[in-house]
Amino acid sequence: MARTVLVTGGNRGIGLAIAQAFAKQGDRVAVTHRGSGAPEGLFGVQCDITDSAAVDAAFTTVENELGPVEVLVANAGITQDTLLLRMSDEQFTDVLDTNLTGSFRCAKRAATKMLRARWGRIIFISSVVGLYGSPGQVNYAASKAGLVGMARSITRELGSRNITANVVAPGFIETDMTAVLPEATQAEYKKSIPLGRMAKPEEVAGAVTWLASDAAGYITGAVIPVDGGLGMGH
Ligand code: NDP
Repeated sequence: MARTVLVTGGNRGIGLAIAQAFAKQGDRVAVTHRGSGAPEGLFGVQCDITDSAAVDAAFTTVENELGPVEVLVANAGITQDTLLLRMSDEQFTDVLDTNLTGSFRCAKRAATKMLRARWGRIIFISSVVGLYGSPGQVNYAASKAGLVGMARSITRELGSRNITANVVAPGFIETDMTAVLPEATQAEYKKSIPLGRMAKPEEVAGAVTWLASDAAGYITGAVIPVDGGLGMGH
């Protein structure tokens, strides 16, 4: 059954791979972007998820064009890495405002219509770093760990309405976000990954489409790692 899917930050990177995977299986897919426009073949809405009014307007546009959002993939995220003692309040709160509060804004807006439909799937894109920790990423790791508590609380609030909330925790994925890491750092990371390599964005998309599928209807409040074994033991 075709669903209406919204992927935040679906204009590039992991979000784009996720959006394309849903589109390939016949779903109606919308992506948010912040001015780049939508990739070919996908419906785009301009939206900065740090702005509640923009989130509301984006959802309204998607509802009018494609129908109420049945599957939300809260994927948009940023990093602003630096060591704890150098991290400004602004660097901390900016990352939290996008990664955690931005996901909250989208989940809240999506839930209003999911409750009415008594069906919904919310998938948060966290990170292995959320539970594993990472030097220089106190802000980012805190935001990504917060998504786990958020998903599990939504699970307890909305589970009886047939709404599931799950977390996908990718490891190191080949996108713009990791391309900025120095070669030496990338090589160091690869050594600690049991599979010995970084992943393609498409390898994250498979877990996300599965979580939204009927086959995963009884899975909620889960954290699904897609990390080549990096975070085992979470
Ligand atoms: P990219 O840097 O390639 O893309 C980030 C996306 O988020 C872009 O679409 C960007 O939009 C969007 N975005 C950022 N801030 C906002 C905002 N305020 N409002 C709306 N959209 C915004 O990242 P990835 O594809 O690598 O990462 C996607 C998600 O996966 C992120 O949450 C990231 O933390 C997570 N992740 C990534 C990993 C990796 O190794 N790459 C590992 C683990 C998790 P725009 O194009 O307008 O800038």
